[in-house]
Amino acid sequence: MYAPAGVKTSKDYPIPDAMKAWVLGDPGQLTLKEKTVPVPKKAEVLVRIDAVAICATDLEIIYHGPPASIQGGFAFNKNFTPGHEYMGTVVALGPGVDEYKIGQRVTVEIHAGCGQCKRCRQGMYTSCHNYGLNYGDVDKGHRANGFTTDGGFCEYQVNNINTLVAIPDEMSDEEATLVVTAGTAMYGLTELGGLVAGESVVVTGPGPIGLLGVAVAKAMGAQPVILTGTRDNRLDIGRELGADHVVNVRKEDAVEAVRRLNGGRGVDYVLECSGAPNAVNEAIRMVNRGGKICLAAFPHEETPVNVADIVRNNIYLYGIRGEGKSATHRAEAFMSQKRFDATKIHTHTFPLDDLPTAIRYAKDRVEDAIKVVVKARGVSAAHKVAAE
Ligand SMILES: [Zn+2]
Ligand SMILES: [Zn+2]
Repeated sequence: MYAPAGVKTSKDYPIPDAMKAWVLGDPGQLTLKEKTVPVPKKAEVLVRIDAVAICATDLEIIYHGPPASIQGGFAFNKNFTPGHEYMGTVVALGPGVDEYKIGQRVTVEIHAGCGQCKRCRQGMYTSCHNYGLNYGDVDKGHRANGFTTDGGFCEYQVNNINTLVAIPDEMSDEEATLVVTAGTAMYGLTELGGLVAGESVVVTGPGPIGLLGVAVAKAMGAQPVILTGTRDNRLDIGRELGADHVVNVRKEDAVEAVRRLNGGRGVDYVLECSGAPNAVNEAIRMVNRGGKICLAAFPHEETPVNVADIVRNNIYLYGIRGEGKSATHRAEAFMSQKRFDATKIHTHTFPLDDLPTAIRYAKDRVEDAIKVVVKARGVSAAHKVAAE
């Protein structure tokens, strides 16, 4: 029975010594194995994982490697468990933890910064200068679930209390997995971008971050919010999440459409979530002078960028890595107040044992899948549940 020294547990939440965990072998190869249930240290809790959403970045890691960095290198054949968009129930408290209670439902941010570098002290813990320094004899305290340390495609995981976001009883497990996605969009627009009510926003690319970027921008009071993309069904969801206008770039020129829809002027912000080769140059032409472009997608190729236009027009261009500055807490506040319905992007749920099927749905967009969730309990094996 699980009873590590200094760790508080409860008979209401019995914890086994071993758990099921998916482990990454060669690229694309996942195997269900048994792992020891990890033990929370100081300022950490053990979370029983109740639901995990699959992210495009998980697919990158599982099939190609980066941006995961395990022991300073590729994640393959290192007994590594991917998965980072998870939520669950606190079931054990590390020494000294009184901020959370056993039985409390939480969703988790991905990054725990070292807490001592310049960026961590600025609240930019996703840009921690000790990123990935947590192997061998080195332990700077930095953790990124499913990127530099084991993630959530398993039954239990340890998390620093700084990464926890308490969620209300009314919020479903599936919705809770989306809090960090919304928090990432929020961090890009508000904490890093400085968006205030009444400013205009274009979101390019209706993937999960783009769609929740629309929702966050609208909930923040942006006007107008314009979404561009290639798939009408996703653009329709964007409209339901608050887009004032949608532009199918297969049918009309995105830059011209944006200028027309915003009274002939460019917009104040572009949140670039498409990763398309021409996306940055189009964004440069979509923003007004002094406007800001937030880059939130990982393009595969290097592309030439029109630097002269950036300089001439005093444009701010910045990348974001994940969530930061506790933006996730503010996203959760929006969601628990039902300022937008993030579950519109959740399309499928599978049991944890069926992770390979769930990954196929996410990767090949089977049945127009957007966010696919896996759950360790409450979903009968071999049966997917289509979201309503
Ligand atoms: Zn993600
Ligand atoms: Zn740091």
